[in-house]
Amino acid sequence: MATQKLQEYRRKRDEKQTPEPFGKSKERGKQPIFVIQRHDARRLHYDFRLERDGALASWAVPKGVPLEPGQQHLAVHVEDHPLDYAAFEGEIPKGEYGAGTVEIWDSGTYELVEEKRGGGLTVRLHGKRLEGTWALVPAKLSGDPKNWLIIRKREAAPARERVDYQPMLATLTDELPHGDGWLFEVK
Ligand code: MN
Repeated sequence: MATQKLQEYRRKRDEKQTPEPFGKSKERGKQPIFVIQRHDARRLHYDFRLERDGALASWAVPKGVPLEPGQQHLAVHVEDHPLDYAAFEGEIPKGEYGAGTVEIWDSGTYELVEEKRGGGLTVRLHGKRLEGTWALVPAKLSGDPKNWLIIRKREAAPARERVDYQPMLATLTDELPHGDGWLFEVK
C-alpha cells in the first residue's frame, strides 16, 4: 500500500471515530476494480473509484454517473482512498469527515482503455449495474484542476478483425499434396 498516497485520506479522518477502513487489507485481484458508492452526506453524491497503483483514485460525482452516451457530469477529483474502501458500506458518524451513509451502488472490474498524458482516463466498466465505457477528463471547469468531467462514451462497434480471405479455388498441379485435409478435383 502506497502510504504516501493516502496521507490526505488519513489526515481527514480519525481511525477511532469512523468505521471507514484505513488500508490494512492486502487483498488483490487480477483485474483492477471499480466501485461507485452512494454517499448521502451533507449533499448526496456518488463516489466513483478506480483501483490505480495500489489505491482507489476517487471522484465525487454530484449528479451520479451519466448513463446516456455523450452525457457528461461534473466529477470532483478527491483524495485517493485505501483499496479496502471499495467494500465499505455504513454510517460515518456525525461530526466526522463525510458524515452520512455510504452504500455500494455498483462494483466490479474495469479495463483501462486509454490513459492520456494530462491524466485523462478511458475505462470499460464491468459492473453489476454498469457495463460500458466512460472517460474521465481533467477539464478544469471554472479553472479548478479538481473539476473533472465524467463522460459516457458511445460504445464502439464490436472490434472485428479484418481478414482478407482469398476465395477457395482449385489449383492445378501435377503432384498431389500429401496428408489429411486435402480434397482433389479431377480436371
Ligand atoms: Mn463522498
